[in-house]
Amino acid sequence: MAKKVKTAEQRAKEAARMRAWRAANPDKVKAIAAKWRSKKENAEKNRLQAAAWRAANPAEEKAAKARYYAKNKESINAANAKWYAENKDKARETNRLWLRNNPDKARARSAKWRAKNLERCRAMTLAWTKANQEQFKATIKAWKHANKERVRKTNAAWHAVNPEKALIKKYLRRMREAKSGGRIRKGDIAFLMEQQSGVCASLWCSESVRERRHVDHIMPLKLGGSNERDNLQILCPVCNLSKGSKHPADFLAEHGITEAMVREFRQC
Ligand SMILES: [Zn+2]
Repeated sequence: MAKKVKTAEQRAKEAARMRAWRAANPDKVKAIAAKWRSKKENAEKNRLQAAAWRAANPAEEKAAKARYYAKNKESINAANAKWYAENKDKARETNRLWLRNNPDKARARSAKWRAKNLERCRAMTLAWTKANQEQFKATIKAWKHANKERVRKTNAAWHAVNPEKALIKKYLRRMREAKSGGRIRKGDIAFLMEQQSGVCASLWCSESVRERRHVDHIMPLKLGGSNERDNLQILCPVCNLSKGSKHPADFLAEHGITEAMVREFRQC
């Protein structure tokens, strides 16, 4: 028996009835939809439909996510913390990659965090500089080197505002220089570069110092060393940062080298 074809009017009436029924029975609609979704054969269709809906309704999706998060905050946070504790290296790597790929967002994010946590930020910076004094000094030195003009202007401004303090500073510097045999001369660096063949002076290190170098006081100024050429050597940044202001014998001993070995080394 052929199916009776419905007229457009009949179809419209039917659709209206269906809409009314759906509006009046939201729970039943939900149950029917859930049952449909739970069937294995609908999984792929369901996934595609959900993806299409998400793509078409980004704002609603975001709001839904926020609602879900607000409702399940504790369990989500706990699950995240658990995953983080179990996958620290992976998390760090992911974070590192994200920071590298999103430098602008990363800057904005840390600026926002800093603005919110000024005190904590200050305390953290202070603790870090205290624990990494040598690295901190080197960073400042490198920054000053890269921003000479800015440093000059700042210094000039400070000198103009603090003439007495500037005089005292100058006096103290002269005292220091007199005590340590004057300033390091430019020719000294060239001489040492030549003498060391452009290689770090540490016995165990063969790093080139042609691009990046630190002029090191073999006996630190703090321990009574001077600026005379005999007391200078050129080290690669890594060696110099690990040496810091240690006594030269202590630094060598750290690397398993005794003074007797140094004497022997110098004789051959
Ligand atoms: Zn070195």
